[in-house]
Amino acid sequence: MGSSKEPDTDRHGCPRHHGIGVSPGLAAGPVKRVFPRVREPRARFLPPERNVADEAERIRQCAADTAQNLELRASLASGQGAEVLATAAQIAADPTLIDGACELVHTRSLVPARAVWEAAGMLADQLKDMGGYMAERALDVYDVRDRIIARLLGRPAPGLPTPDREHVLWARDLAPSDTAQLDITKVKAIILAEGGPTSHTAIVARELGIPAVVAAPTTAKLRDDDVVLVNGAAGTVTVSPTADQLAHAARPIPERTFSGRGQLACGTHIPLLANISDAAGASAAAEAGAEGIGLLRTELWFLGTTSEPSVEEQTRHFVDVFDKAPAGRIVVRALDAGSDKPMAYLPTGTEANPALGMRGYRMSRLYPDVLARQLEAIAAARQETGADVWVMAPMISTLEECEEFVTAAHAAGLEQAGLMIEVPAAALRAGQMLAAAQFASIGTNDLSQYAMAADRLQGALADLSDPWHPAVLDLISTAGKAGAQQARPVGVCGEAAADPALAVVLVGLGASTLSMTPRAIPDVAAVLAHVSLAQARELAGVALAATDAVQARTAVRDRMEFLTDLGL
Ligand code: PEP
Ligand code: MG
Repeated sequence: MGSSKEPDTDRHGCPRHHGIGVSPGLAAGPVKRVFPRVREPRARFLPPERNVADEAERIRQCAADTAQNLELRASLASGQGAEVLATAAQIAADPTLIDGACELVHTRSLVPARAVWEAAGMLADQLKDMGGYMAERALDVYDVRDRIIARLLGRPAPGLPTPDREHVLWARDLAPSDTAQLDITKVKAIILAEGGPTSHTAIVARELGIPAVVAAPTTAKLRDDDVVLVNGAAGTVTVSPTADQLAHAARPIPERTFSGRGQLACGTHIPLLANISDAAGASAAAEAGAEGIGLLRTELWFLGTTSEPSVEEQTRHFVDVFDKAPAGRIVVRALDAGSDKPMAYLPTGTEANPALGMRGYRMSRLYPDVLARQLEAIAAARQETGADVWVMAPMISTLEECEEFVTAAHAAGLEQAGLMIEVPAAALRAGQMLAAAQFASIGTNDLSQYAMAADRLQGALADLSDPWHPAVLDLISTAGKAGAQQARPVGVCGEAAADPALAVVLVGLGASTLSMTPRAIPDVAAVLAHVSLAQARELAGVALAATDAVQARTAVRDRMEFLTDLGL
């Protein structure tokens, strides 16, 4: 069994690379590598006979042509793909980039390609400094930069190969506008040497249902036409798979539906709940048969507003969501503002480390009334709809914070008040926290980030902020045991709950509910139905005994042979 960096061999003796599976499914085919990005142009100066104004004009023209091309493609695409292309088109038309490049031609006589390179670098740095969502836009800037430079140099735009047969696409990293243009009739799977679970590629691949593995650096050795088998759930890329493996991958997987009750093979009920952020999500959860809402992310609705909505507006919003939600509990998370979810009307001042700064429940140090008003609106909406509403606070680090939140929720008339376990301190002290609260929900996205001290948005560190890491599982185990001792429910609502194999481990570690994107529910339910509670505990023990995330995932999956039969 290899470390996260090294390939190993599978039980058929085939070489196997490891990365992070971000979109489940099995698919095989010949590799096609993506045309590389443009190289950094040398800092050359224009010869005296060239007219700087003409050269600057060339930049404007090429940028305008690039923007037009991207707009056209956006109009032909749909969904997330169209949005990504439209964003790229906006960047290509952005005066900060174009004026900046033209100024470098005028003031320093830089050749146009170099001027665009430097201006884009400055813009990308500014975005990175802003952190969170904005920092991720730096990738769009590099993408647009490369397209403008390719046009300036009269080269084809960097990007996707267009073979006329089915293939597995390999890239170091994919620009968002490339991901948006994937021809899903030809691309059977995607492998990225870099990239992370929150990258555009991961999101789009999931949306399109294309198996994808990211952060698999050793796959850089793959060559065009190598035949590989990609397992987007296991995060593996098998080279030269056997005929049996290929036949297995080609089998049609029957469409799975959810019966409405998450249950282990021994009959133990594990309610499968949905993660949502608005009324449309509530409807999708109801359609998927979710047994309730395990995480209502409230901040996404607020992110688009420039001032705090009134209590009445908030109440109407919550009524709409509660009305559309499936029957069962609705766990509403109090506003998780700050860090990767900055909110215009809740400024935090400049922070060197926003993820360690004013975010989540800590925001009430600066804006205590915002939480009070939100709880008031939640309580009013509950009154109006009669929904079974629970509330929980994000980013709780201390018992004092936990008690404060519970007191505030009870004062608003909300009896079921809990905490999110996202900070290792909360996991380690979960016993005391659960003596003060009615329940806990483990946010594995942040818990992994903080346990491993690895920014969840940094693709290059995705192998570290992996919930399969035994250190993260240790923390979950501690929280699970505390829940059992205090007889309080401890659920999981981070992305980990949507990974069917990991879901089993989480149950074995003591998770009493699992909450996930509604689309993942049928797969997780199908896998849970294959194991008893005793087996889940045994598999949890196997994962805890591993030395790293890859080993934990591989050891557990190797013991669950039925996963491949389920196409997972
Ligand atoms: C988490 O951190 O796991 C979580 C569910 O919250 P979010 O992803 O919204 O930070
Ligand atoms: Mg979180």
